[in-house]
Order: sequence, then C-alpha cells, then structure tokens
Amino acid sequence: MPSNLHHCAVANSADQLLFERVYPAPRHASQTPFQQDRKHVVQARAFRRLAGKTQVFTSRASDHFRSRLTHTIEVVQIARNVAVALGLNEDLAEALALVHDIGHPPFGHAGERALDQSLKRHGLRFDHNLHALRIVEHFEQRYVAYRGLNLTLGVREGIVKHSRDYTVQQHPELAGYLLDQRPPLEAQLIDLADEIAYLTADLDDGVESGLLKTDHVLDEVEILADCYEVVAKKHSGIEEKLLFSEALQFMQNVLTEDLITNTRRNVEAIGAQALADIRAHTTRLAVFSPKIEAKRLQEKQYLYNTLYTCEELSREHVKAEEVVTTLFEYWIAQPEELPKGYFDEIVTEGLARVIADYIAGMTDSFILLQYAAIKRTIRR
Ligand code: MG
Repeated sequence: MPSNLHHCAVANSADQLLFERVYPAPRHASQTPFQQDRKHVVQARAFRRLAGKTQVFTSRASDHFRSRLTHTIEVVQIARNVAVALGLNEDLAEALALVHDIGHPPFGHAGERALDQSLKRHGLRFDHNLHALRIVEHFEQRYVAYRGLNLTLGVREGIVKHSRDYTVQQHPELAGYLLDQRPPLEAQLIDLADEIAYLTADLDDGVESGLLKTDHVLDEVEILADCYEVVAKKHSGIEEKLLFSEALQFMQNVLTEDLITNTRRNVEAIGAQALADIRAHTTRLAVFSPKIEAKRLQEKQYLYNTLYTCEELSREHVKAEEVVTTLFEYWIAQPEELPKGYFDEIVTEGLARVIADYIAGMTDSFILLQYAAIKRTIRR
C-alpha cells in the first residue's frame, strides 16, 4: 500500500481557520463543515443553471455533449479519486470540484471574453474565479440570516486559488485569502482534475460533433495514440469507435494515476510533514510528471488548433460575442429595463457590474431569448 499524505491534508478536526464562515452558523454533528458547504453549493440556483451552459459547443445540438453540470460531475469523480488515493480531505476536494465552474457565463470562453471586454470599457474586469466568489459571498440569496452561501474559508480560498495565484497588490480585496501561501493540495488538484476531465471529454464530444475525426486524432494526439495501441492489442476484431472510447477511458486513468503518483513523489521530495509545508512551498506540488505534462500540452495544443479555433466554432464565438455585447450595451443605455432585483443593486454595485452579474448567470438558451427580444425592441 503506497503511503498516503494525510499528514499534509486539511483535517476535519483541526485547521479551525479554514472552517471559519463569514456569519456564525451552527455545526452539525452528522456533517463535516465541508459537507455542509457541499449542500449549500448543490442547492444554489447558479449551480443548477450549469445544466443549461455548454463548454465548447454552443449551437450544435446533441443530447450527448457535456454541459457544465455533467462536466462538473466528471471533475468531482476525478478529484475525489485523487483525494482518496492520496489520503487528502475528500469532502473539501468534492465541494471545490462542485463549485469550480459556478462563475462561468453562458457560451464558454467566448462569453467570458465578451463580458470581460464589455466591462473593460467601464474600468472593470470579468474573471470567472472571482465571479464564483461573488456568487457564493454575495449573489445567491437563499438564507434568512445572510447574503451568499456562507461557505467556509477553506472552500472560498479554494475558489480563489484553485487555478491561479493572485497577488494582493493587484487584488487588495482578496487579502483575507492567504495570497502569499500556496493553497492546500485539495485545492491544487482541482485544476488538474478539471484538465483531465476536459482533455477526455473534448476529444469525445469533438468526435461526436463530427468536427474531429478519430483517425486524425489518433495520428496527432500522442497520449491517446499510445493508449489506443494498448487497447487495440488487447481487443482484436472490435470496431474502431468502441476502441476509441475505451482508449479515452484508459487515457483518463493514465492521467489520473500520473497526478496521484507525481504529487506523492513531490510532497515526499520536499519532506513535507504538515499542511503548513505545502503552503510554504514556492511552487504547487500537485502537478503531472514532466513526461505526462509534455503530452498534456501536446493534446491541448491539438484541441486548440483543430477544435476550439476551427471555422465552425469560430463562427459560433463571433455570434456569442455579438449576443453578449449587444445585451450589455442595451442595458447600459436602458438600465430601467433590467429586472427589478438587478436594478435595485445598481446603487451599491454599479451599473456595469450588475449587468455583468445578470448576463453571467444566464444559461445559453435564456440569453438567446433575451437577445431575440431585445433585437425586436431595437428594430421597432
Ligand atoms: Mg471546469
């Protein structure tokens, strides 16, 4: 049995600082604080709306494509897998995986880019991690005693830091999130679990969409070609489609195993004895091995060149940006047309931020309905 890293995990019995909530809340005997957070996250409206947001494909319809919700579930299962294998806090890893995409606007990265561009003209920016924090701290109104979901500091810190480091110079408002320290391993692994999930899913959905061809993928994506060779040797006479699918699953396991093994190796190499050692280390320790990292980058480059920027998706991105920008500008000019709840927030939050909040929360289908309605109004 390989050694686990429980001595470096966020413990459920200690690390009181990470259990702190903004507002006092009773502890439940039958739930750990992070299990309580999990409950708050899955019951948030922003979480449920992930079902109506796509990641890669916005206009092509297939019941088989991942939505952000099903992607999130895939990230949860990988994150829990890694956390359990390493002896880390699986409740924290699960809560962080569940919440990791909650700040994404409709239309994937095209929507995020357009929202960021629109906000820039008003001296603001859009960042999905910081927007996720805004949702859980402020935006969701589900409880009598407070605004937001009143999550633990451990989960809020993970929301801020799971995928990148912020400096206090650039973001003084984040000063309470221990920005000079690395996040715990439970948060570090979320970004990699996310990568593993979409490196598998985007090849799968890409082929399903017809935008990628299995032969081309197998010629160009080294890591999948290696996996396919192993799988094909094991099963002769099986149709290519099934072998491709089997190879994708195998690849997901290879990536996951590598993350587990390499993280353990890194933590042991620095002789870390406690969470404090993980936090004090200059770099993140939950990373792939150099060999797998090179293959990951090679696949990512392929997806970027062949799928994300292909002609058909580029056309969708242009349309998505047009939709977001038109709506944003419409409400800048006519703030009284915003729903009342949003209009009332303008005085404290500022008009541009309120519009961004409204747009970011929309599902792909809802934003298209809004766009169609506003186009009709403009034409009149
Ligand atoms: Mg994600």
